Order: sequence, then structure tokens, then C-alpha cells
Amino acid sequence: MLGIIAACLMFCLNLPVGAEGGAGGAKAPSVKLPGAAFAALETISPERIRWHVRYLSHDLLEGRGTGQRGGDIAAEYIGTQFAEYGLKPAGDHGTYMQKVPLVGITTLPETQFSLVPKQGETMNLKPLDEYVAYDQTQQPQSDVDAEVVYVGYGIEAPEYNWDDYKGTDVRGKVLLMLVNEPPSDDPKFFKGKALTYYGRWVYKYEEAARKGAVGVILIHQTQMASYPWEVVRNSNSGERSALKVEGPALKVASWVHLDVAKRLATASGMDLEKMMKDAQSRDFHPVDLGARLKAHMMSKIRNFESNNVIAILPGSDRTLAEEAVLYTAHYDHFGIRPDMPGDNIFNGAQDNATGCGILLELARAFGAAQQRPHRSIIFAAVTAEEQGLLGSEYLGKHPPIPAGKITLDLNYDDVKPLGAPEEVEVSGAERTSFYPLVQATAKEFRLAIRPDARPEAGHFYRSDHFSLARVGIPSFSINEGMKFKGHSEAWGLDQEREYVEKHYHQPSDEYHPDMDFVGDSAMARFGFALGWEAASLPQRIEWQKGDEFEAARTKTQ
Ligand SMILES: [Zn+2]
Repeated sequence: MLGIIAACLMFCLNLPVGAEGGAGGAKAPSVKLPGAAFAALETISPERIRWHVRYLSHDLLEGRGTGQRGGDIAAEYIGTQFAEYGLKPAGDHGTYMQKVPLVGITTLPETQFSLVPKQGETMNLKPLDEYVAYDQTQQPQSDVDAEVVYVGYGIEAPEYNWDDYKGTDVRGKVLLMLVNEPPSDDPKFFKGKALTYYGRWVYKYEEAARKGAVGVILIHQTQMASYPWEVVRNSNSGERSALKVEGPALKVASWVHLDVAKRLATASGMDLEKMMKDAQSRDFHPVDLGARLKAHMMSKIRNFESNNVIAILPGSDRTLAEEAVLYTAHYDHFGIRPDMPGDNIFNGAQDNATGCGILLELARAFGAAQQRPHRSIIFAAVTAEEQGLLGSEYLGKHPPIPAGKITLDLNYDDVKPLGAPEEVEVSGAERTSFYPLVQATAKEFRLAIRPDARPEAGHFYRSDHFSLARVGIPSFSINEGMKFKGHSEAWGLDQEREYVEKHYHQPSDEYHPDMDFVGDSAMARFGFALGWEAASLPQRIEWQKGDEFEAARTKTQ
């Protein structure tokens, strides 16, 4: 078997022999795929991926905007391909479409936001300069008049034996908190320098809402946030999109400028520097500031909708077919910016027509295989990624089969058409029980595993697989590294830099006939092998003990 795959890969991909593989350990698991799987894998074609990218990024698709005509055409194209491949619909009411209800929220200038300290004058804050705020309840008007309680980092993480709340009843309160997480170099404590989900503002808002708080005020501090106030201001002005609210939500989800937090602390007879220090201790307890937030939130609410496109290939094993491997890629991009002069169509060829092309080739190859894997395979092209991973968030909350029965999600986003890769990035895979097989498979494919260069940047939390990880599903993205055949690593880094500077999220992310999709095809083949293996294992894949997503997984089992 191993001989067959090696021969096939060298023949089909013409990959160099001898690249570092990396199982490392004494007993590396062997990669076992049946002949029918090899045969199907071999048919995965760079040129078919090209045709999908060429179509999906055409000007006529109008940038595949969420809730816009071009995005809907892309969804229909993908659904039509699924049908052609003989896959069963897994969306709403026997269709390939899963409707995703979305809401656009704009905070209006009539909004008022005041901090009232125990002593001293009321602080009427200036929007954008001193604070930003959104009403997550998605109501046109909300009023808050509530006590402000300082809760340190606002984190409750049992696996790190960390609890800032200490059982304090925060129902009806407004919680003042720090961004990021307690600093540490210890990899066993909030993963050392790497950012965990607990450090992200999304988590902090959600945890506060779950505990019944009515508002959160995040204190912006450039170093802790890893970006300046301007970034907070820009990403919190204008319309923000969200899923239509289903659970508890904050009337006030806000940030304040560091100077505002200092003034508030001083007026409350406290010292912000000391408060920040205190928060770094396990013994931290919430502190009632004796201050109030008086907020009158006025919002413009716009309802709209889009679709995830979902298909399923039923598994061959009567019991295991209830479980599935999931493949995801987002199909949305930014649409058209009518106010922009010149070319204003955001074609999104690389981001993420490439991922869609790969997803469709995988769907076709699985559908055409002479034999089916034991578990079912689900293919989901998700929407509204560019609006904040919203389509995948909805998929995670409303999966076609229970989340606990999905053994693995493999995601593709922005896979560069640069030629034959010698590396693969699978950041997050090392956190799962599947990793030894990922390493062994990479070795078979002559792909060296490239580690995440900047784990502190938290890239793991910025792609669709994260939405599935949040509901406990072991998940990661597959992408090329920086080393391509016939080129140095510096060349790969240059390509990446040029793309980020000139084309990423710009109208010039367009299809060109000289793009080389061999790498996309290699990533599809690698993912095909991984998916087939995951679908055949006797046990479901799990997170490593103590992982931040382990608790979510346990809840769904
Ligand atoms: Zn993307």
C-alpha cells in the first residue's frame, strides 16, 4: 500500500523525495487507504480547481457579497456541483441551502454613554474618540443604568485553574475588564505566549452575557490588545454584522480608551496600574467600583440573509455512518463597493475561490470513489466569513448532524496558486488525537509540517475551523507553507508579502491564467487522505487532555 501511494504521489505530483516528514516517534502509525481511495485521490486535478476559481472569481459574480446577488449565484453554482457529483442535500428541507439569518447593526449618533463615578463629575464620553459600543441584543433602543464591577481579565478557565469571577453574581451588572489573558511564558498556563480563545474579546463578551451581565467595558491598552486604538475605532464604526441573536446578549458591548479607564479608576479612589497588576493573580476577586454606567443605545437594525451550502455522502458502515468528517471553505467575499472609483469588484480569487475549488474537487472525488469510507462525509461551503466567521458559526450551532458526531473538520482558506508545495501548515492539528496520523500522512506526501510562526497573533481563532472548534469538533485548516519546489523559502515569503500588501482584501485579488493550481491540488489530495483516514478510524478524534476546547467536546458527547 505504502509503495503504491509513494509511487502515485511522485508520479502524479512530481514532489521531491527526501523532504523532512516528521513523525519523529518510535512507532509512527501507518497510512492505510484502500485501493479505491487511492484511485479517487489520483483523479483530483489542478485544472478542475482552476475552472472553479476562474468562474467563482469572475466579475459577473460581483465579488460574492454576503446577502447579495453574486454571493447567491456562487452558492447556487456550488449546490449544483454537489448535485452533479451525486451528493445528498444536507441543508434545510431537503435542499443544499441552509439559511443563515443575519443582522446588520449600526450604532447611531443619538447614543449616549456616561460613566458616573461615586465622587466627581459624570463622564459623558465622546463616541469613537473615547468609547465604541454595540448593542448585541439587536434592538433599536436599549437603556442601561447599572453598577460597574471590575472583573480583571473576565476569564473563567477551569483547565488553567483560573477564575476571575469567583462565583460573584454579576446579573444586571456592567463588567469592566482587561483584554488578552494573564501573561506567562509557561506553555501549560494559557499556552504561554500563544493567544488562547480566553484572551479574545469575543470570549469575554460571551462569558459575561452567559453570566447575566448587561454590559461589558473592555479597557484598551495597546500592548495588551496588540493593536492601537485606531484599530478598535475602525472595526467598531459603521455597520457590524452578526447572526440573529439566539441566546443571552449584552445591551452594551464596548471598549473605552485607556485614559477613560484611568479617570474612572481615579474617581473611584483606585489606581488603574495596581488594578491591572492585581488581575494577574489567581487570588483576584471582582471589585465593585461604586460607579455606574448610564447608556442610551440607539441602533439601526438591518435584517438580511444568506446561505451555507451543504451536502453529504453517506458512509458505508451502518453504525459509523451516523458520524461524519466535515470539510469547510467559505465562498463569500466583499462584493462590490459602489463608492469606490475604478475597479471596485472584490473578486476574491485566492480568498477564497481557491478553497471552494478544493472543496468541490474533494466532493467530486469522494462522490466518484468506487468505495465509500465508513463514516459519512459532509461538505459545507459557508457564507459571511468576511463578516466575522458568521456562516461557520451558524453551521456550528446548527450542524446537519449533532456536533458530537462530527469527528473532524478540515478547512481550506486562501490556498495560493504558486506551484508544488514542499510544506504544509496544519496549525491546531497538534492539539488533537489525530496528529500522529497527520504527521505520518505528511511524510507520505513528502510535505514538511511548518509550525505557526506567530502563535501569539492568534491566527487559529481567525478562520472558519475555529467556529467548529468552539462547539467541540476537532478542527484545523490545511494550507501550504512557504517552501515551493524550485524556489527558496525567501521566494515564498516574498510572494506572501506581496500578496498581503497588494492584493489581500483588494479588488486585485483576481484570477490570472498563469496561476499554477498544482499546490491547491496537492492540498486537496493531502486533505482527501486525511479525511478518508479520519472517516475510517475505529474511534472518534478528540482534543488532547486539557485543551481549551475539550470541555465543549465533552458537553456534546
Ligand atoms: Zn478567507
